[in-house]
Amino acid sequence: MPEKFSFALAATDGAARTGTISTPRGDIRTPAFMPVGTAATVKAMMPESVAATGADILLGNTYHLMLRPTAERIARLGGLHDFMNWQRPILTDSGGFQVMSLADLRKLTERGVTFRSHIDGSKHELTPERSMEIQRLLGSDIVMAFDECPALPADRDRIAESMALSMRWAARSRDAFGDRPGHALFGIQQGGLERDLREQSAEALRDIEFDGYAVGGLAVGEGQEAMFGVLDFAPAMLPQDKPRYLMGVGKPDDIVGAVKRGIDMMDCVLPSRSGRTGQAWTRRGQVNIKNARHQDDPRPLDEACTCPTCRGYSRAYLHHVFRAGEMISGMLLTWHNLHYYQELMSEMRAAISEARFAAWEASFHDLRAEGDIAQL
Ligand SMILES: [Zn+2]
Repeated sequence: MPEKFSFALAATDGAARTGTISTPRGDIRTPAFMPVGTAATVKAMMPESVAATGADILLGNTYHLMLRPTAERIARLGGLHDFMNWQRPILTDSGGFQVMSLADLRKLTERGVTFRSHIDGSKHELTPERSMEIQRLLGSDIVMAFDECPALPADRDRIAESMALSMRWAARSRDAFGDRPGHALFGIQQGGLERDLREQSAEALRDIEFDGYAVGGLAVGEGQEAMFGVLDFAPAMLPQDKPRYLMGVGKPDDIVGAVKRGIDMMDCVLPSRSGRTGQAWTRRGQVNIKNARHQDDPRPLDEACTCPTCRGYSRAYLHHVFRAGEMISGMLLTWHNLHYYQELMSEMRAAISEARFAAWEASFHDLRAEGDIAQL
């Protein structure tokens, strides 16, 4: 295993890229999809099952873990990898986004954010320095700079002000992170949908120097067209030789569109969350297993899928266990969804390596346009 964090591009096809991030805890093949393990678990999945889907890295949430069971307790118990029995790389977010979306009585100042826990009302503070400390206590392999992200739509002055604050916090995050061989710190570009603000933000981040760069402030209500509009120019503003991460994205077609535009890493709760609400994602789009059309259907979700759910269980069974409220329903659908997402990444990596991404993308959209298999 390497002792350092590094990124090597293997091939590009148009703006799309494939490569490998090397860390002391293992390699991450890019483009990579990171399942979300919010509270030190990918809901409804054993860690070995998550690994079996092909995930090289998980995401953990600073906000949730700092409140419960606390970063200090996880550190005393050996760090997040041992605590949750996941020895491959972990990326943690900075907590900033979730404080803004989940916590009560938030107060934002130059220093940071104070807030009350959504769990028990207790008072907490997150600053760039505290976020770096929490992510160090967790033992995160890829640490995210602490930032502030306005929900869209927001007016230009608000976005400009927020971006400037995030860049000052990025510099403080860099200072507080210090020198930690084998661990990486990523900066986060802000600037909403404004090209000039995105450029200013990228320039500020390049001056500070990070191990990787996220395109932040997207997937916050702007819609796919506006998001792709920003991705048409934003990734190219960031260093070519470092990984680029699009936070909180997304649906399969969002992911394909982001990879096409030069994104290397993504995360989203969607495959696991929709697995718990009776929604499956396949090559043919979305399947609502709650629908009565499945109740006598002996076929799997996807004949071509090699996941344990599709190999062992019919649509009729999946429909039944969802309707009966059985726990295995969320387990089986989550497993399939995570497997499908990883298959999608694997297919894209191969297509980019072989310089046939455009043809692959066309077939991806064609099959989805056909829709789910016809009812029996
Ligand atoms: Zn499957």
